[in-house]
Amino acid sequence: MKTHYDTLIFDLSKESRIGYQYTEKNLNEVNLPQNLLRASSADLPEVSEFDVVRHFTNVSQKNFGVETGFYPLGSCTMKYNPKINDELATLSGFSNIHPLQPDSTMQGLLQIYHETQEMLSEISGLKAYSLNPFAGAHGELAGLMIIKAYHEKNNDSKRNKIIIPDSAHGTNPASATVCGFDVIEIKSNLDGTVNMHALKEVLSDEIAGLMLTNPNTAGVFEKDILEISKLVHNAGGLLYYDGANLNALLGHAKPGDMGFDITHINLHKTFSTPHGGGGPGSGPVGVCEKLVEFLPNPIVVKNGNTYHLGEAKDSIGNLGLFYGNASVYIRAYVYLRTLGKENIKDVGSLAVLNANYIKDSLKDLYELPIDGHCMHEFVFDGLKDSSTGVKTLDIAKRLLDYGYHAPTIYFPLIFHQSMMIEPTEVESKDTLDSFINIMRIVAKEAIENPDIVKTAPHNTIVRRLDEVKAVKNPILKYKDIK
Ligand SMILES: *Cc1c(COP(=O)(O)O)cnc(C)c1O
Repeated sequence: MKTHYDTLIFDLSKESRIGYQYTEKNLNEVNLPQNLLRASSADLPEVSEFDVVRHFTNVSQKNFGVETGFYPLGSCTMKYNPKINDELATLSGFSNIHPLQPDSTMQGLLQIYHETQEMLSEISGLKAYSLNPFAGAHGELAGLMIIKAYHEKNNDSKRNKIIIPDSAHGTNPASATVCGFDVIEIKSNLDGTVNMHALKEVLSDEIAGLMLTNPNTAGVFEKDILEISKLVHNAGGLLYYDGANLNALLGHAKPGDMGFDITHINLHKTFSTPHGGGGPGSGPVGVCEKLVEFLPNPIVVKNGNTYHLGEAKDSIGNLGLFYGNASVYIRAYVYLRTLGKENIKDVGSLAVLNANYIKDSLKDLYELPIDGHCMHEFVFDGLKDSSTGVKTLDIAKRLLDYGYHAPTIYFPLIFHQSMMIEPTEVESKDTLDSFINIMRIVAKEAIENPDIVKTAPHNTIVRRLDEVKAVKNPILKYKDIK
């Protein structure tokens, strides 16, 4: 039922109700030039301060976030972002830096930039990083531009094809296409790993490289990775690692050791920047030794005891103005320094333990297409008993009624009813147990009362949406709602 406080703030307006009043003195302090003054008053709601507080508090609770409840959205790594990281990133010494001020006056920020580059190199086993790209997909584009520049420099520009397995994240083929490559999609094995036969068939002297996610989107570690990298390198191609979700590997394994030449890392997934609302993000790109000269600018270099903005010799250029999203590196830096080398291993171990715990606790009721040990995430293929017609979409919607965010659904595309679950390392056993309990209740409802699941959600602010219409015809203005 709608309450008074579900009402939009414009409808609460009562003429002359006042929340705050400027005094003559405040107004004189502002002293705006005559041409900027309003001719008539703005059409604002007239409400009390208390109405405003209630309005915004209520609005803030209409959404779901990792701070309101468990958020097992696979491939998104929705972990807790410690508040101290936000606080340090907004210290005025950082947030008031002007992009054009001289290097000598911002040594602290440049040191953070440099040390973050170095820590990412160590974590991933690659030689050097540029923090410039603004998101994961932007880092992919940077990496692919580097692949292109490398082959062109070797007078090998007929290499215009990128191999991508069909289990890959959608941004991989999109970035490759934007970069002007032709995409060769290869079918995966049943567990989402690379089919060696399919790979060998497409290797040729037109291959620029292979893009791979490891562990793959089904949460399976690519055990043939050394063989794969040998094959691609022998064919003259480069290996691109999609490191958007680095959780499972942290402190345990390095893409560089697996033979990867290039990677991007999503600082806003693995390294604790809040995400999900569209940014800001950061997708640093790292490369092996022979590709360092192509990195995007700027790169921060250390000369003696001072830090400077440097440029790569054959750089693909700047992908964004100035430094990239500095506040995101500062958060990643604080996160890494807080954990330290000793504790970073626990991130991977706990993320993997939590995912396996949920998987094994539910596989009697949900279809598990890939049995065995998973990494930081895994995929169910709908309910085991699908006789009542309850689908993955229905289960996802029903979970909202119980106060849980839905898993990623219908991705990866290799299964028809994919439900991709990633708990991350930060959730307690109690949280996992209560989620497991609700998943079991929903599976039972699907048999005993399927309609309640098929018509869910029932308790949310909006009911089941026409998702296509919501994207194609969004209503963003208050006036249109009426
Ligand atoms: C999230 C993700 C990306 C894209 O990252 P954005 O920052 O959203 O552009 C790429 N690959 C994988 C596997 C991802 O999970």
